[in-house]
Amino acid sequence: MDGSISPKPARPMARGRLFFANPGPTNIPDSVLAATARASIDFNDPAFLAVYDACFEGLKKVLKTKHHLFMYTASGHGAWEASLVNTLSPGDLVLIPETGHFSDSWAKMCGTLGFEVQQVPADWRRGVEISAIEAALAADKDHKIKAVCCVHNETAAGTRLPLDQVRAAMDRVKHPALLMSDTISSLGCYDFRMDEWGVDVCVGGSQKGLMLPTGFSFTGASEKAMEAHRKSTHPRHYFDWTEMLARRQKSFVGTVPTTLFYGLQESLRLMLVEEGLDNVFARHARLAKAVRACVQHWSGNNGPQLYCQNPERWSDSVTAVLMPEGYDAEPVRKIALERFNVSTGGGLNKLAGKVFRIGHLGDLNEPMIIGTLGSIEMALGLAGVPHAKGGVQAALDSLAAG
Ligand code: PLP
Repeated sequence: MDGSISPKPARPMARGRLFFANPGPTNIPDSVLAATARASIDFNDPAFLAVYDACFEGLKKVLKTKHHLFMYTASGHGAWEASLVNTLSPGDLVLIPETGHFSDSWAKMCGTLGFEVQQVPADWRRGVEISAIEAALAADKDHKIKAVCCVHNETAAGTRLPLDQVRAAMDRVKHPALLMSDTISSLGCYDFRMDEWGVDVCVGGSQKGLMLPTGFSFTGASEKAMEAHRKSTHPRHYFDWTEMLARRQKSFVGTVPTTLFYGLQESLRLMLVEEGLDNVFARHARLAKAVRACVQHWSGNNGPQLYCQNPERWSDSVTAVLMPEGYDAEPVRKIALERFNVSTGGGLNKLAGKVFRIGHLGDLNEPMIIGTLGSIEMALGLAGVPHAKGGVQAALDSLAAG
């Protein structure tokens, strides 16, 4: 057979399961994988539409919204673009609190699409100050700012941005801009309340907390966002919400990824029925705390440390680990992958080589976290990176404490 069709395994010595600690895509539960193994079906077939409608309503429950939902066969970038081109007009000013690589990328997209961008600069390790966002809004007397685009969970830095506090700041200065939130790596990991927090537009994707393959993304839209949509003059086609509302599915211009919906039906069952959303959040919090306990222990001997220096902003989805000065993160990741079959995330943007990231989101439990941390600790030793041994014990103690 042609070598390209039957290639040698990339890691011939790899045995057992790949321990996947990337911050997205994430582990897919076996029952979700099995659910997606479906033959194609017409996306207008009543049998599919019943599944589709249930998923649509279930996803709104995860977003904690009673308002509108639009879905796209696209990764998170697609939903980012859709949120902007449906609610804004060319030349509109958007305010983007700086959180890290993903706020930078969203800002770059805004510029490319013809919007004016004002960033609220911040220290990535501490997280943007709410008072700085408030000051920028207060200074905008003419209400030129039409949207505040926040990244709820900055996947690159391992930080969270408290959206309820952003909403409170907007309300204090009575600013009418839309509040937009990227929930791509927070949704299904820790609490997000679209309606209660007054989020007008939120953006999510299939491949993180929802535990699905990459393949669809979506936008929640409030009534205020729909009003802005009716006034928006930005060119759009595939992402056009008006076009979608005219369709039976009220989403998707084009083919619906039917197999993913069977997977979504199962992942929603796991999250909303079997485990319960609050328990999902508690599990993420417990595992995240153990990871941080481990990293804090490693730092004891001038070793790697938590990238995020502000406990109020620690993320329960992902921990970015800052390497000691003069040590590259990549050999550690390489050893973890090649010797132990443990995959971690690399540093993005200005953090390339400086951090590695441990994703602890999605379908994950204690033994998976312990195995991952133990393998990384071995990799640190093999790569000659200074660290205090015993990080795994610190994680065990944290998990045992509950
Ligand atoms: N926003 C955040 C916070 C992310 O973590 C990612 C991807 O990791 C994106 C946006 C981009 O999403 P996608 O890669 O699905 O296009």
